[in-house]
Amino acid sequence: MSQPLSERIKNLPASATLAMAAKARELKNEGKDIIGLSLGEPDFNTPEFIKEAAIEAIQADYNSYTPVDGYAELKDAICTKFKRDNGLEYAPNQIVVSTGAKQSIANVVQVLINPGDDVLLVAPYWVSYSAMVILAEGNPIEIRSDIKTDFKITPQQLEDAITPKTKLVMLNSPNNPSGSMYTKAEYEALAAVLEKHPNIYVLSDEIYEHINYDGVTPFSFAAVPSMYERTITVNGLAKAFAMTGWRIGYLGGPAWIAKACTKIQGQVTSGTNCIAQRAAITAVLAPVSKIKYMVDEFDFRRKRIIDLLQDIEGFTVNVPKGAFYVFPDISFFFGKKLNGTRIESASDFAMYLLEKANVATVTGDAFGCPNNIRISYAASLEEIEEAIRRIKEAVS
Ligand code: PMP
Repeated sequence: MSQPLSERIKNLPASATLAMAAKARELKNEGKDIIGLSLGEPDFNTPEFIKEAAIEAIQADYNSYTPVDGYAELKDAICTKFKRDNGLEYAPNQIVVSTGAKQSIANVVQVLINPGDDVLLVAPYWVSYSAMVILAEGNPIEIRSDIKTDFKITPQQLEDAITPKTKLVMLNSPNNPSGSMYTKAEYEALAAVLEKHPNIYVLSDEIYEHINYDGVTPFSFAAVPSMYERTITVNGLAKAFAMTGWRIGYLGGPAWIAKACTKIQGQVTSGTNCIAQRAAITAVLAPVSKIKYMVDEFDFRRKRIIDLLQDIEGFTVNVPKGAFYVFPDISFFFGKKLNGTRIESASDFAMYLLEKANVATVTGDAFGCPNNIRISYAASLEEIEEAIRRIKEAVS
């Protein structure tokens, strides 16, 4: 039977991170002892105080449809959070709560991008950005960076990438996959370029905001005064609160964009889960100190994994300031043979590690950085140490 799928879905790339996780699962099911360092998911449980808020919501019979853009109390809490953590003044009509930050981002792309519009993706970028742009029939345009500039772009690179078709720039700091963070001064320099191009909007994905190290303070792009009116700030609870499966994300931005996002969400999903939203009120308002134990643990593992990776010949290792990934440059191995396997790309290398070291990582190709692989350290210290031992053995 023919399978007449739409061109839209045929043209949509599958998620490379999920594909790697699926391949790793398959090998695991075959009985292989795979260590999975490919997924971006905290290995903690959701904190008790948030679970309790959800249980209370169930007992209090929260079970109806919610407002499409989220409960008023949650939107108020998000306004408080934006002011407290980011110095951003948003009114409730500028906030939309969604089914994960993923939906917040997809909404923004859908409501801003016309077919043929250019969207600038600052590489390395999260894999789903380009797919979302393709789905909206926009053109994903990469601006590349590499380990030499700590995976950050220069204002000149941004300027050079802008064309009359440019509609949106997608930024992500702390960054998945590199863990790099743009400083206030670096963002101000990028903003100075955009000031000359008043028709360009900016999506600032800040989902890893609270996971940062070495005293580096995250900075919101919308906090550059000239950028506030055209920046959409996206955040969510998945990462810092260990709530990936609860599916709560949100955005703050111009009221007309929030209204359009509510419109599309109203036709596609409606408001997100009511219990998760009630619990989110507690999570969003909680002092950041309540989740510090997780960040401290990530920091400990970060230092350990950097030490271990720096010890492997051929790995050039960055020192991430946020998130829970390292993104080493492994181009040293390109054109070489490892135990009879020729390595030509980061994808070859990641596949080699999966098959020979039984360690799942993700190729940098998927993030617009073809010399790198992403290794998540959201895993136990024992797993991390064993994984790196195996990697070292497999490439020596
Ligand atoms: N942005 C980035 C940079 C991410 O890494 C992720 C999750 N992997 C998301 C957004 C989506 O988060 P959520 O689970 O809230 O949809």
